[in-house]
Formats: sequence, C-alpha cells, structure tokens
Amino acid sequence: MNVLNFNSEQCLRVRRQLDAYLSNELLVETTGEVLRHLESCAACSKELEARTRVRDALRKAAANQVPPEELRHSIQRQVRGMQPGFFGGSRSLSWAFAFAALVIVLGGIATEHWITIQRGRRIVAGVMAIGVSDHIQCAIKGHNYPDIANPPEKLRQKLGPRYAGLLEVVEQKLPGFEVLEAHVCSIPGSPRKYVHFITRGRGTILSVILTRSDGAQLPNGSSFRTVASGGVNLYQAHLDGMNAAGFEAGGYLGFVVSDLSPAVTMQLASGLAPSLKAALDAGSGSQARLDLPLVPVTL
Ligand SMILES: [Zn+2]
Ligand SMILES: [Zn+2]
Repeated sequence: MNVLNFNSEQCLRVRRQLDAYLSNELLVETTGEVLRHLESCAACSKELEARTRVRDALRKAAANQVPPEELRHSIQRQVRGMQPGFFGGSRSLSWAFAFAALVIVLGGIATEHWITIQRGRRIVAGVMAIGVSDHIQCAIKGHNYPDIANPPEKLRQKLGPRYAGLLEVVEQKLPGFEVLEAHVCSIPGSPRKYVHFITRGRGTILSVILTRSDGAQLPNGSSFRTVASGGVNLYQAHLDGMNAAGFEAGGYLGFVVSDLSPAVTMQLASGLAPSLKAALDAGSGSQARLDLPLVPVTL
C-alpha cells in the first residue's frame, strides 16, 4: 500500500480547513495558505479530491432522489465530522470513496422505501377516514344514540337479517362496552352505507363500523399494518382527534373508532376483528345488500 506522508502540522491544519475551503467559507488569506500547501502536497490534494467527490455524490443523491431530511442531515453531519489524518493517506481516500458509494446506495434504497411508506401511509389515512368520518358525523356530532341502550330485539330489527347476527359478536367481543344503538347509516352527500354500532364504555363513545370496501383497499406490507390478530391485519390512524383501528374482512372494511388511546383502540380491535371477519365470511355466500331503510343522520 502506498502510504502518503501527510502527518505534518501543516497538513493537519490544512485538512481542518478543507471543507470550509470547498464551501468558499475561508478568508482570502487562509485560502491562499491552503492553495499554496495543496500545490506542494500530493496527499492533501488527493484528500481534497476525495472530499469533492463525496460532496458531488451527496449533491446528486439529494437533487435526484430527495431523501428524507433526517437522512440528509445525518450524512452531512458525518461528512463534517470526517477527521483528517487518522487513517493514513490512501486508506482515508478509499474510505472516502466507499463512503460516497454507500451514500448513493443507501440514499437510493432509503428514498425508495421512504416514498413507498409515505404513499402507503396516505392510503391508510384515506381508508381510515372513511370510518372516522362516520363516527364523527353520526355518533359524535349527530348524537344518534339514546342514553339508555335500545333493547337488543330493536337493534337486530334495525340491522336487518343480514347484519343482525353481528350484534352478538360486538356485544361479546367488546367487554365492558354497552351497545346503545345499531343501525345502517350514511353521511349526507356520500353513497356509502355504514353498518354502525354505537357503544359506550370506559367513559366514552366508541363506534364499530363496517362498510363495503367498494374498491377502497388497505396497502399490503408489514410496514403499514400495526399488528396481526387471528389472521387479520390491523391498521392504525389518528384523525380528527380520534384513534381508529381498521381491518379488511370479507369484502368489508371494519373500523373501531374512539377517543381512547391508540393502544386501547388497537387492543379492543384485535379482540373484535377476527370474530367479525369470521361472521362476515360466513355470510358472504349470499350477495351482500344494504337495502335497508337508512337512518337519516341528523347534524
Ligand atoms: Zn499536506
Ligand atoms: Zn351511524
């Protein structure tokens, strides 16, 4: 290995100035001193070349691929922290090239991953908004539930034969919550229909909502789902002050929405989702129809 001699006082001083020199941040006098040294010192010239390449690579990675801010900042910090003089000339050089290559590769992978994750999160938030909006419009703003729970026969009647059986599932799998109301509802201006259970427990109102997916789909991939419970992937979102857990089941989207903590919401949903999915799958032999009289949502 060709070890270049650069360990003089002057080399160390110049190397400390190289980044500032590259950024045009040096005083004229210091620039002159650095230039004079570079003319006579091959080792420092090579070091300058290496750092220029790292900078170019970073600039290209940043311009073409827009990595997340944190990644860019951490790379910049690392480059600034590159200590001159500790590795020996040529090792320092190859380290610089390896680092530049790593930055490009990692930057590319991280950026692609980041874009996929951002896209996925937007899709999750969009799907979750379907459930959260019904909870807010119908249960919270509309207050479409009685203070004293409707009797189960009445709720089954409101749900109709297709969904009446789900009442039992909600009652059993949501311990500590009382089903005050169950109906099929819709939000003014939207054709979407919701099978809506409004429950009370833990000092708040919690909705269990099912709606035909109608093309709305949660993204695949473990980066987006929060937990898997009984073969059902659960997704999580915080929207409009509410925490929602969402899942797909037999052509439906299911939601548990409340202002309880994300952890509690997920825990309740993970107890409920597999049974709701089983009930919906069992009923999916017949064509699902939501042709019941709608409960008008009063706002
Ligand atoms: Zn030198
Ligand atoms: Zn409703």
